[in-house]
Amino acid sequence: MSDDAKIRLYVEHPLGPGQTVPLERAQAHYLFGVMRQGKGGRLRLFNGRDGEWIARVEEAGKRAGVLRCEAPGAAQSTPPDLWLLFAPIKKARTDFIVEKAAEMGAREIRLVQTDFTNAERVRQDRLQAHAVEAAEQCGGTFVPAVRGLERLGALLDSWPDDRRLMFCDETLAGGAVALDATPGAAPGPWAILIGPEGGFSQAERARLHTMPQACAVSLGPRILRADTAAVAAMTVWQTTLGDWQCP
Ligand code: SAM
Repeated sequence: MSDDAKIRLYVEHPLGPGQTVPLERAQAHYLFGVMRQGKGGRLRLFNGRDGEWIARVEEAGKRAGVLRCEAPGAAQSTPPDLWLLFAPIKKARTDFIVEKAAEMGAREIRLVQTDFTNAERVRQDRLQAHAVEAAEQCGGTFVPAVRGLERLGALLDSWPDDRRLMFCDETLAGGAVALDATPGAAPGPWAILIGPEGGFSQAERARLHTMPQACAVSLGPRILRADTAAVAAMTVWQTTLGDWQCP
């Protein structure tokens, strides 16, 4: 690995030994216009599937460019099968949740419309770009997919039998923070559910409490803002069942 390859770039193109990678216009502008890279410059590429590759700039133009993979970097590392479900809130706080979920190791990010969701319009493409940027800066080789807004009720109607649901229920604040699962065991598919600023409705809470896949949890003695709750819940899950556990 080379120390001069500091810039990391997510691309969709396949990566491998000697593979050329054409750049899109926005990527060429970023690399050659903003970051002042030129022909011969080195950087790190990842596409979420093929691990990280050290690449060299072969062609540099204002609107296009070509890179060539030279050597493998970090191995591909895909996070555990954990979805983060949350009700969108204000724009900056929604952006924060997406960024932190990508850094902390969510496999998929799903926005849910709950009874008390009160969000501005959600731009899925913008949120996906935030997830890409977060992966680029944190050294990850995986980018979680950000799904468009779905109704919570519809999502629960077709909830998979084998996917456990860590339901963060604010009415349990003050209770013990405990996940109904064996630490260290292979976790299988899971999801975390965080409600909006107004919390869950009585009907939603009643339904969630009857789902056999759901495990209602407290996140400590105080009511957290939704963005704080998302980070706290991911920390609890990752340290208990996910890839933050001690080997
Ligand atoms: N308006 C609600 C109330 O006053 O009870 C608070 C909602 S809280 C701002 C947003 C979400 O964060 C909740 O729906 C829940 O998913 C999660 N949350 C916040 N604090 C929590 C806690 N102590 N235990 C479990 N979940 C919590």
